[in-house]
Amino acid sequence: MDDRKAREQIVRFGRKMLETGLTRGTGGNLSCRSAGDRIAVSPSGMEYDRITPTDVVILSETGKILSGDRKPSSETPLHLELYRNRPETGAVVHTHSIYISVLACLGWEIPPFHYLMATFGGRIPVASYAHFGSRELALSALAAIGEGKAVILANHGFVTVGENIGEAFAAAETAEFLAEIYYKTRCVGEPRCLDDDQVDRLNKLFEDYGRSNGAG
Ligand SMILES: [Zn+2]
Repeated sequence: MDDRKAREQIVRFGRKMLETGLTRGTGGNLSCRSAGDRIAVSPSGMEYDRITPTDVVILSETGKILSGDRKPSSETPLHLELYRNRPETGAVVHTHSIYISVLACLGWEIPPFHYLMATFGGRIPVASYAHFGSRELALSALAAIGEGKAVILANHGFVTVGENIGEAFAAAETAEFLAEIYYKTRCVGEPRCLDDDQVDRLNKLFEDYGRSNGAG
C-alpha cells in the first residue's frame, strides 16, 4: 500500500459509508494504513461525495501531518490510539449508523443473541462516554475494545478495526444489521442468548469458513 492507493480507499469507502446509510452528512470518519507508519485519514467536516484523494491527509502514528493541506478528522486521536496499541490494525472505521446509535444512547452492549455475533467474539461492548474528538474518548474506546474488533461509543456511535478497510467496513455493516435485529427483538421480548460453548463452536466455524474462502 502506498499513499496514493490509501487515499483512494478513503475516498471510495467514504462514499460507500454515505450510500449504505452508515452515516449522514459529514459524520463519521475513516482511516487506513499506507506504507510503514503512515496513516491516511479522512478530512474534517467535508461531505463524503466531495472528497477527492488530495483531500485525504497522511499522518504519522503520533499525529504529525506528513502530506495534505486539509485538517484531519476530529476523531484522529481515536484512530491513532487504536493503531498505536493494536499494531495489526490496518484500518479504522467510525460510523453513526441508526440502530447502533440507538443502543449507544441506551448504553446497551450487544450480547451473543444471534449467531453472527460470533464474528465479534460474542459481544460488542460499550465505551464509557467522553466528548467527541477527545483523548478521553480515544482511551475509553481502547479500554473497552480490548482485543476485539468493535466498540459502541456511548451516546455517540461506533468504531471497528480491521486488517484492511474492506474488512473494517464490512464489520460496521454487519454490526448495524445486528443492532437493528437486537433492537427489534428487545421491542417484543427478551432474546435467548447463545451460551459460551455455542459461541466457541461458531468462532471455530467462522475461522474454518474464512480459511476455505482464502481469507485466513
Ligand atoms: Zn462520531
